[in-house]
Amino acid sequence: MARLIFLGPPGAGKGTQAKTLADKHQIAHISTGDILRESVARQTELGLKAQDYMQRGELVPDPLVIALIRERLAEPDAKQGWILDGFPRNVVQADFLDHLLIEIGQTYNFVVNLEVPDEVLVVRLLGRGRKDDTEEVIRRRLEVYREQTAPLIDYYQAKQKLASVNGNQSMHEVTSALGQLVTA
Ligand code: AMP
Repeated sequence: MARLIFLGPPGAGKGTQAKTLADKHQIAHISTGDILRESVARQTELGLKAQDYMQRGELVPDPLVIALIRERLAEPDAKQGWILDGFPRNVVQADFLDHLLIEIGQTYNFVVNLEVPDEVLVVRLLGRGRKDDTEEVIRRRLEVYREQTAPLIDYYQAKQKLASVNGNQSMHEVTSALGQLVTA
């Protein structure tokens, strides 16, 4: 059974690739960004608390995201395997995840790190044209990634769980590199 974590900066193609791989293996694609955007759209209690942080390109506070993941991993479809896309985003969340997985008797196979150079990311993100993607917010999201999320590369490397994939190639080539990794 596949349980994977997708790391990588905003604009690396995590969402697209995670969804493709999850569909192929019929496992749950769990994107905290998608769940949070839907909560904002529906103006739920979580959405109302999260929206200001998201608009500024900051991380939503850990307790909110941690509660969300705890609930989501308890859903029946997550029993068949999952890909976490956009979680964990910092060391506190990664430590929480390790403890939660012990608690529920699960483990992940490995962590995929999609590598894309900064200048390519900015071009991609500006081209995507999502509502929250103004240049200022994009730059802040990249900064937040570097400060808070990139340290997870060493974190998972130290656990010998890291698999890096070149994300700076065509969507199809990345999909095929990931496919080989997961069946290997
Ligand atoms: P994403 O679609 O993964 O780029 O996420 C969009 C936004 O949702 C981020 O810029 C954060 O504001 C928020 N977000 C998503 N995942 C997390 C997380 N694990 N921790 C904190 N904030 C998150």
